[in-house]
Amino acid sequence: MQYQKILNAIAFEASKTENRGVVASYIPELSNIDDGKFGIALLDEHGDFFASGDTEESFSIQSISKVLTLSLAFKLIGDDLWERVDVEPSGDPFNHLSLLEHENGIPRNPLINAGALVVADILVSHLRHPKQEFLEYIRKIAGDTSIDYDLKVAGSEKKTGFKNYAAAYLIKSYGNLENDVEDVLDFYFHQCALSMSCHQLVKVFYMFANRGKCLEHNPYLTLAQVKRINAIMLTCGFYDEAGEFAFEVGLPGKSGVGGGIVALLPEKFCVATWSPGLNLKGNSKLGMEALEKLTTKTGLSIF
Ligand code: GLU
Repeated sequence: MQYQKILNAIAFEASKTENRGVVASYIPELSNIDDGKFGIALLDEHGDFFASGDTEESFSIQSISKVLTLSLAFKLIGDDLWERVDVEPSGDPFNHLSLLEHENGIPRNPLINAGALVVADILVSHLRHPKQEFLEYIRKIAGDTSIDYDLKVAGSEKKTGFKNYAAAYLIKSYGNLENDVEDVLDFYFHQCALSMSCHQLVKVFYMFANRGKCLEHNPYLTLAQVKRINAIMLTCGFYDEAGEFAFEVGLPGKSGVGGGIVALLPEKFCVATWSPGLNLKGNSKLGMEALEKLTTKTGLSIF
């Protein structure tokens, strides 16, 4: 497979695209990003790395982090997790509250904000130093100690994350949050403020394409866990556009409002894109287009 040629062609087409979407500004610190950035990086099943564009530059991974906290919570408490968070797509934007009330504080899935807050609560309960231990987990999987939180982004979101406060208090009112709302949100705002490049993202997400093993072949997740997390990414990974992503791209993945997307084809490759401009549903506009081109040009998807 000529991945390098294909990635170069995709990056070239992206550079010529005028409508690049709109950079998220509801977290003030995110609005400072240059919307001209574009990168695409891929790790194949042999561990060979291919990249084109701005793939070494770090950006705020935001909701992409929800898959990583989910994987750690699943490792820690196993299937008990599903008593506290469901696995159905919500069909609503990521920060909606109404379903939460209808469904008695059990979030629809772990990849919307409400679900990620419950997962964050589990980590706060089970880890002695949650922020530090989560960061170490990510660094170890990637084999990269330079990965870190962007404290400015975390602080910016803390000041403006009123909907997340509302969701957390609502969940707490139904008895589905064990810890103080402030502690859970502090952890959550930091996980979202993880700053990573496309290159680092493919190294961490490689385990979801490689039967639970990282690039060095150390096991982090069981095959059964990977199967379940990939299923959740496919059905819930793109806000209320998960159907469209499956239809256009055909890979499990996760996006974030920082403009990143990670997707994978089990036992074949893991790919990450970054372009900060978002479409109306909050997914990176050029990132989605790039991944549609990747699966079309390679003829590879889960379908
Ligand atoms: N930290 C963001 C929030 O809670 C994450 C949003 C996202 O990337 O979907 O609003």
